[in-house]
Amino acid sequence: MTIYGGIEAGGSKWECAIGTGPNDLRATATLPTTTPAETIDGAVAFFEREGPVDAVGIGSFGPLDGNPASPTWGYITTTPKPGWAQTDFGREIKRRLGVPVAFDTDVNAAALGEHRWGAARDLDTSCYITVGTGIGGGGMVGGKLVHGLLHPEFGHMRIPHDREVDPFPGVCPYHGDCWEGLASGRAIEARWGTPAAELDDEPAWHLEARYLALGIVCVICVLSPERVVIGGGVMNRPGLLELVQREIVALMNGYLSAPVFGDGISGFITAPALGPRAGVLGALALAATA
Ligand code: ZN
Repeated sequence: MTIYGGIEAGGSKWECAIGTGPNDLRATATLPTTTPAETIDGAVAFFEREGPVDAVGIGSFGPLDGNPASPTWGYITTTPKPGWAQTDFGREIKRRLGVPVAFDTDVNAAALGEHRWGAARDLDTSCYITVGTGIGGGGMVGGKLVHGLLHPEFGHMRIPHDREVDPFPGVCPYHGDCWEGLASGRAIEARWGTPAAELDDEPAWHLEARYLALGIVCVICVLSPERVVIGGGVMNRPGLLELVQREIVALMNGYLSAPVFGDGISGFITAPALGPRAGVLGALALAATA
């Protein structure tokens, strides 16, 4: 039997797992994201202690180089996260563990996990969006993860921003008021002075739902997904998913006739079936492609 290792490498913590799927997780560990050397050492030690594993899948924060033909494949590239730009990550894991490694974005891994075991099972075209500290998205088209030029960067789409309604300039260091700049957890905390988990203000959450829906409508129009899975810490807000669903129906304004823009909306815009484990389970699914 082939045993896989998975790493969901986030900006604040890494989730590591060994197993073959959601019903067969043999070991898990959570590591704080500190320096590249220390965090990679911690992951290698986990796999050496709890393994062996036959292949490792890595779903990482980015931007990153996931092109196997590139000399810098496996690198986290231009991230603004201090100390992490140009980190040789995938190759280092491959070298230290001596097993095949698959390397992709955290959100592409989660999209794959939800496709394999979760809310997007058996669908040809779907996407996974996370709304947490940042916003990211990954997609599957024709049953394959979307790569192309680099990898999708849903979070940096430009969405309409009415500065009379919302004068907040946004938090993205590159674009200011891109989608992530306006609607991520970091943006919520900067705009309202309160972390999303503690924010209890109806108009604030209506604005958030509007921004999330504006971005998702762009994704729907470009990708035509059969289902949009949306996770991340900000989505833990009770009622937010339903507000977003209503805004999406309103923004589409009857243009597309699919039933999902009516009574079917709750099955179309949905929470991850794998819950907060979508990313690390997706990394295991990624390992199977290594
Ligand atoms: Zn941006």
